[in-house]
Amino acid sequence: MKAVYIAEPGGPEKLIFGDRPEPEAGPGEVLVRVRGTAVNHADLAIRAGRSATGGLPRILGLDIAGEVARLGSGVTPWKEGDRVVVENRVKCGDCTPCLHGRDEFCERQKRLGGELDGGHAQYCRVPAANLQAIPAWMGFEEAATLPLAGHTAWHCLVERVQLQPWEDVLIQAVGSGVGSFGLLMAKGIGARVIATAGSDWKLEKAKELGADEVINYTTTPKFSQRVKELTSGRGVDVVFDCVGATVWDESLASLKPGGRLVITGTTAGSQIPFNLSILQGRPLTLMGSGGRSRRSFAAMLHMVHYGGLRGVVGKTFDLADTAKAHEVMAGRDFFGKLVLRVP
Ligand SMILES: [Zn+2]
Repeated sequence: MKAVYIAEPGGPEKLIFGDRPEPEAGPGEVLVRVRGTAVNHADLAIRAGRSATGGLPRILGLDIAGEVARLGSGVTPWKEGDRVVVENRVKCGDCTPCLHGRDEFCERQKRLGGELDGGHAQYCRVPAANLQAIPAWMGFEEAATLPLAGHTAWHCLVERVQLQPWEDVLIQAVGSGVGSFGLLMAKGIGARVIATAGSDWKLEKAKELGADEVINYTTTPKFSQRVKELTSGRGVDVVFDCVGATVWDESLASLKPGGRLVITGTTAGSQIPFNLSILQGRPLTLMGSGGRSRRSFAAMLHMVHYGGLRGVVGKTFDLADTAKAHEVMAGRDFFGKLVLRVP
């Protein structure tokens, strides 16, 4: 089968578009005929050797959407031809967190496209427990945006900060995959959204998608002042941050007393000096994100099926052009997700 894999770490030139053996579905597993697979910042880290692969060669691709092609023994209720999207993390099912229904903390979890072969291939072997059905009206390219970016935004806004309809939320880097999902979910919940980005065309796109207010954090580096103006001097209830160091101080300054910040990315750096007295004087709650559960993946798909949640496909590429997609990802001049079509 055709696949994109790495045999050694390095730059985009290390991505190999070639032939790999077609996998077989074992007990409890399904072979998915992949049709759409998205590109993530994590792919660049895996390719460059900054993130674990569990051994090489490794087929990349953390996001997978396609059709059930073959069933391993004991798999119900799926059947061949079902249109599905795949939760990325494979859980063991019998460690203590798994037994407690908290599989986001599974002690032996592995990533498809990380420590296991992923979806940049015509076929991928996945546990049936990781599948969710996609609506008939949703294309595979859009569905491929859901597992990492969509699920991460859901985990942050619904499970972690538990965003409420009457709240104001600041969505950082709204043009990113996670940021664009943050915007759409927050509007689906009914919250008021103030969105930031580093270019005006991305802010216009955010407005089209429902952002109530927008701020360019390149031309307005002290954006907390604008946030205060937009919230009658109070600040926002929630900051959703997938940027990190460069916006940290202004993110904290944008929160009202008692506000919550959830961070899910540090693409602009992770090292900062931090004034601890801020937490004492303005009782804030700072939250990490991290693991994602099968429970929350199913919950997010409910919003896709019945609540109008969509994915934003920024650009599409053929699987053979994965290296080009990695270069576009590094350049950040896109809105939403970069998705690969699988032949
Ligand atoms: Zn486990």
